[in-house]
Amino acid sequence: MRSKVAAYAVCFGAIGACFLALSKCHRVPSESSLENRARAIHSRILTVDTHCDTPSQMLRGDWDIGMRHEPGRRESGKVDLPRMAEGGLDAEFFAVFVGQGERGESGYARAKERALAMLTAIHRMVGQYPQLVGLALAPEDAYRLKREGKRAAFIGMENGYPIGKNLLNLEEYYKLGVRYLTLCHGSDNDICDSSTERQNPEDNGLSAFGKEVVAACNRLGIMVDVSHASDRSFYDVLEVSRAPVIASHSSCRALCDHPRNLTDEMIRALANKGGVVQICLVSSFLRKAEPNPEREKALQELRARYGSLREIRDEAQREKIREEYEAIDEKYPEARASVEDVADHIDHVVKIAGVDYVGIGTDFDGGGGVVGCNDVSEIYRLTVELLRRGYSEDEISKIWGGNIMRVFRRVIEVSQSMRAEQSALESHQSAMREGRQ
Ligand SMILES: [Zn+2]
Repeated sequence: MRSKVAAYAVCFGAIGACFLALSKCHRVPSESSLENRARAIHSRILTVDTHCDTPSQMLRGDWDIGMRHEPGRRESGKVDLPRMAEGGLDAEFFAVFVGQGERGESGYARAKERALAMLTAIHRMVGQYPQLVGLALAPEDAYRLKREGKRAAFIGMENGYPIGKNLLNLEEYYKLGVRYLTLCHGSDNDICDSSTERQNPEDNGLSAFGKEVVAACNRLGIMVDVSHASDRSFYDVLEVSRAPVIASHSSCRALCDHPRNLTDEMIRALANKGGVVQICLVSSFLRKAEPNPEREKALQELRARYGSLREIRDEAQREKIREEYEAIDEKYPEARASVEDVADHIDHVVKIAGVDYVGIGTDFDGGGGVVGCNDVSEIYRLTVELLRRGYSEDEISKIWGGNIMRVFRRVIEVSQSMRAEQSALESHQSAMREGRQ
């Protein structure tokens, strides 16, 4: 017994000496050396954020995306072109977001008008600052723009509501550059049921019209986005889509139990189909907030008084709501998630599905922003955290853009083969008709 103890002591002594020697030659990297490595990696790889709500900022007359706005101020927003360059973000999917409203012709018309206004604002940005940014319609565009030293602007549409019941609208949006479609938003719509604010008591999943929308996306080459969709809608989409699908801004339910997040089973199913989940930087999707009843009560009263901020167009009214919100936030502050929480969610997807199936969708200007990465100028800090956890450059490159661009390429290939099938069918049919005459 004693000799065993002695042997252990010798052994531990030796291990201790080894650790000492190791720590001398492999020191824990300093913050500044990690930052330098992160910056160098960002200069070599393509970095893509799959979701921001900055187009609503663009509609503000007093705000200019080509100008640098001081980080940390509310009126600055979270994304502008100079800060994208500063933080090392190459490509952004600008979301054309329309909140769910009345499901009828007048509602559809208003939604379309709003969507077109946002699309116009994005095209105006590209026209106004051609030296800073270019429109990206396919992965190669983003890689080319990177080589030219410019930012890439992709377009996604958040909520299929502006399609109304007419698939020609979807085709029109595609022609204007829309390359992903988030099928629904905060509540159920004509396409599918939402993960939140259920109007249908049952989760009805994807509707018959929704199936047509998914097929049209597959045919056009638009990525289908299941963020915001209910669990049943999610599985229905996976079943009917001919191409892999994405979750443009969702996190892991296993780490933060929120219906907007994906369960492990959902993440594996998404991965099995070749898709990708883009971890969202919204604090409440990353970690469960400590109970804060006073804050909740005050926010509920605010919502009851004004409705959703995103639905309100009147700038003076919006300003008043923001001020009241800030007063509540100051009085009853909330413990916010951090860059470490984001990395925990990335680690989780890597663990259960693999490094090929995860990316980042910040939701900046739509509620996104965490301690350590509160706006786009701090985006490289996510890479610092990934380096600290031992991720290689190759893995970081996949997470930051390689994965989503792989899915996008596959979606384009599926679209091309569907179009080829369609034209083969049409020429066969016309040959048959001619043969009969
Ligand atoms: Zn969203």
